[in-house]
Formats: sequence, structure tokens, C-alpha cells
Amino acid sequence: MANPFLVNAAELLRRPGSEKTLSLLVPIADLDIVDDPRFAADAEVEVALRLEALSDGIVVAGRLRVRWQGVCRRCLVDTGGIVDSEVHELYQRTVTDPDAFEIVGEQLDLRPAVRELVLLDAPATPLCRPDCAGLCPTCGANLNDGPCGCTAAPADPRWSALDALKGLTDPATDPDD
Ligand SMILES: [Zn+2]
Ligand SMILES: [Zn+2]
Repeated sequence: MANPFLVNAAELLRRPGSEKTLSLLVPIADLDIVDDPRFAADAEVEVALRLEALSDGIVVAGRLRVRWQGVCRRCLVDTGGIVDSEVHELYQRTVTDPDAFEIVGEQLDLRPAVRELVLLDAPATPLCRPDCAGLCPTCGANLNDGPCGCTAAPADPRWSALDALKGLTDPATDPDD
């Protein structure tokens, strides 16, 4: 399979200061990302990069966007969103920067960097929204839909720990007394 992330950099390497842009829409499978439940099989990665030649390498900067999917870790509903990764990588013929990728035969292979960013930035334990209220521990109702009617479900686990402690240390107290 042809690698759409392989860029001929001969021209750039000859002319420091020159630039080249790269816009691609690439199936996720072309990143060797298969059977990852966070991505639909037909998900596509939108790649928008600018390559800028320096005297000793090429800076690659821009963005990656791809749709992710998953199950909210608190309320268990299907959710999803867009991975929006910022790219800033350095490629060098002679690698002197410890974070740089190597330019082999005047070609940049952007695939390893793109793959790594997509895998890293897609949430491993997603939330449907930052303030998801989760499920009622008693009846299992989705609390994002409103209160479930369970009485006095402690909202904060710290208080329930305190209640348990009270029950242990003060068993004789009768509030109706
Ligand atoms: Zn949720
Ligand atoms: Zn409930």
C-alpha cells in the first residue's frame, strides 16, 4: 500500500526557508490503526500541515483531526467527538535533536508521528461532557436526565464515609429521642 504520509523533501532541503503545505484526508487504516474501538472503521484523519525548511532540518507544524467514539465512563451512554491534535515535529538528516525524526533518502515519513498523536490524543476513558452527573448508585438512573427520586443519596463520597464513621462511633444515639 502506498504511504500517503511519505513526503519528498529534496526541494525543501535544497532551499532553507522554503515551505510546503500538505493537506490530506486519510483512512484511519492507513495509519495501521485497526480494531481500535475509539475509531469507526471508516474514520478519516484530516491532516493539515506546513513543512518549513531550516538549514539543518524540516519543521512540520499543523493540525490533525479525526472523529472518535466511545462510552462515557460515568453514565455509560455512547459518546464521541473530534480528536484535534497540534503537530510540531522536527525532521533532520543527521539527527542532533533527541526529539527529532530522521530524514531518510530525502524523504519524510510523517506516519509514525501522526499515528502516535492520534493514539495519544483520543480519550482512553471518555466523558460525554466534562460535568457528566453519572448514574445513581442506588437505582442506576442517568442523573443527567434529572434527579431519580432516590432519597438522600449522598452526593459526595466524603460525607458517606463520615456517616459510616458516625454510625460506628455513636451507635447508641437515637435521633428521635
Ligand atoms: Zn456521561
Ligand atoms: Zn436513584
